[in-house]
Amino acid sequence: MTTAPTVLITGATRGIGLACATRFARGGYRVTGVARTTGSDGEWLTASGAALIEADLSAPEGIAKVPHRAYDVVILNAATYTPGGMLDAEDAFEDLLPLNVLANHRLARRLLPKMIERKKGHLIVIGSTGTDSWPQHMTAYVATKYALRGLFRAWEIELTGMGVLSTLISPGATLTSSWDGEKPPADILLPATVAQAVWRAVEGGDTGRLTILP
Ligand code: NAP
Repeated sequence: MTTAPTVLITGATRGIGLACATRFARGGYRVTGVARTTGSDGEWLTASGAALIEADLSAPEGIAKVPHRAYDVVILNAATYTPGGMLDAEDAFEDLLPLNVLANHRLARRLLPKMIERKKGHLIVIGSTGTDSWPQHMTAYVATKYALRGLFRAWEIELTGMGVLSTLISPGATLTSSWDGEKPPADILLPATVAQAVWRAVEGGDTGRLTILP
């Protein structure tokens, strides 16, 4: 009897994470999704056979709720966006760091050893083309995505020869709730397009940094 491959997806209830959950479920994967709250999309996910873990990943207690298994694919996707520059009264950078950077660092430390033990698996990290060019008001967000890009590059080196593949998928602007309250560009990706790129990277065993543009 063959068992279905497994995928863990953070931020699986909306936007790019939800599109990835849908794509991998359609591709025969057993999906474990993580989100802070299980809203109506979360209910849809569990109805379609996925397991959904409610956890605030910005805190160590939330990380500890993520099932500690040897997944075939791990997609580190969850992040939040708020505008913020160096000189703004509110310090957006400190607000964004725990989820956009630390959660991924902690999850990698939690989940990668089991994949390395099996010498098998694929780590997908969702970056952003924001680290290539960005408007002024995105300083805080882009700095967290740069930190994640740096972590990814270091993980890539650490994982060499370990049997675990790693890919940084960097989409351009994508139509999700991240754009609530801002004017999205006319030329914008759909979450399903990004999810399809993630799927192709896993199917093709593609590694390194892949940018996804409209
Ligand atoms: P989104 O629509 O805002 O969805 C974010 C997801 O993360 C939701 O499922 C949300 O669940 C979850 N989440 C938020 N805070 C969490 C927390 N503290 N703990 C656990 N889960 C949490 O996001 P998106 O736009 O699809 O972005 C996904 C990824 O793509 C991010 O890494 C982002 O940086 C990247 N990206 C986005 C764009 C874009 O234009 N949208 C462009 C380039 C890269 P809850 O509802 O429970 O909070």
